Amino acid sequence: MKICIIGAGYVGMVTGVCFADSGNEVTFIDIDRRKVDKINNLSPPIYEEGLEEMLKRNGERIKATTDYSSLSDADVIFICVGTPSRNDGGINLEYVREAVKNIGEHAGDKWKIVVVKSTVLPGTTEKMVVPLLEKITGMKAGIDFGISMNPEFLREGKAIHDFMHPDRIVIGAYDKKSEETLRKLYEPFDAPIFVTTPTTAEMIKYASNAFLATKISFANEIGNFCKKLGIDTYDVMKAVGMDHRISPYFLDSGAGFGGSCFPKDVKALITAGNEMDCEMSILSSVMGVNDKQPLKMIELLEKHLGNLGGKKIAVLGLSFKAETDDVRESRSIPVIEKLIEKNAIVSAYDPLAMENMKKIFDEIEYCSTSDDALRNAYGCLVMTDWKEFEHANFKSMKNPIVIDGRRIVKEKEGLIYEGICW
Ligand code: NAD
Repeated sequence: MKICIIGAGYVGMVTGVCFADSGNEVTFIDIDRRKVDKINNLSPPIYEEGLEEMLKRNGERIKATTDYSSLSDADVIFICVGTPSRNDGGINLEYVREAVKNIGEHAGDKWKIVVVKSTVLPGTTEKMVVPLLEKITGMKAGIDFGISMNPEFLREGKAIHDFMHPDRIVIGAYDKKSEETLRKLYEPFDAPIFVTTPTTAEMIKYASNAFLATKISFANEIGNFCKKLGIDTYDVMKAVGMDHRISPYFLDSGAGFGGSCFPKDVKALITAGNEMDCEMSILSSVMGVNDKQPLKMIELLEKHLGNLGGKKIAVLGLSFKAETDDVRESRSIPVIEKLIEKNAIVSAYDPLAMENMKKIFDEIEYCSTSDDALRNAYGCLVMTDWKEFEHANFKSMKNPIVIDGRRIVKEKEGLIYEGICW
């Protein structure tokens, strides 16, 4: 099939390259010329394990452009643009609206499906995307063109694997022909297909993310409690997770969740709930725990060091999790903010995410190795579970005080080591 991906970010890139790998012709459309040039040079604009090899392998079936006119020939158009948080926590649909307008203006007469893959609140596809497309094209959705909502569940860092081996594929089909076309497109991926309405598909995505975020905040609350009693929360959660009704995943306590999805999606549900007079009290608490959690790292550091003013503090890990360069909502952000507020001298290191973090903090020192960041530091905060931090050279610090937010440090001998919840 001829597939067009609108938005070549984390989801768009992975979706497009994986569909090319299963034999489809893929065109990426992005407003960012730099990303487009990179893709055409077969260099991915984001880091994701295995993406570059897959892009290169399928280069002859992939092209990228900023020009929407190449849409007219497509069989399936995936909208993968960002849906960031607004200041009030609600979801910003500006990019989706802009993409839909452009699709409407360039769609042409050939029958095609428009698929919303971006995470959007329940009702967006049927109440916003469909009327806008019908208005611009003068055509009827479900007859002259197809519509579907197809949420994405990939995890950054494991995105190619997750896209190729999903637990389930959810198709929120507006019309039968869209459902059949998407079933065919997803045939090579060995996964159960769950077909429903677009609005239910939208809700499935939010409910999944909200549940996973809840598991993490729950594990953190239990972890904080266990730390007070000297109980190892990882042992507790290991046994708790052996219950098949619970499952062992997302029960690791630490500095909290970040990334481009959980915080924004949970906040969007809370805000939408408020607007409908439906209080989301569990989810408000989930965010409350998550907002406080990273600052516990600072409290623990101060317990050992007292005043942080003028002291060099190493921050290891800037991405919101290992194996990605994404720093959106990373828990290292509130921690660095607090360190700056307390006049500490921050020396930071991350294997992939330093360029992205420089756009947020340009006043801290970025080091090219963890050794450089640690040398002569008074204390260290480990914020990301990068494997290389297991055996970092903590002994080169002035005081080997290590506060671990991810239970990643393996060699603790000779260190003053403290875990955030253990
Ligand atoms: P992203 O910010 O990495 O990428 C979005 C891309 O869209 C950017 O390259 C941007 O330049 C482009 N863009 C914006 N407006 C455009 C327009 N009008 N036309 C063409 N391109 C345009 O976003 P992402 O992380 O890939 O997320 C995309 C969506 O997928 C979001 O709704 C997100 O919630 C959802 N999602 C993300 C993940 C994830 O792990 N990142 C997982 C599942 C779902």
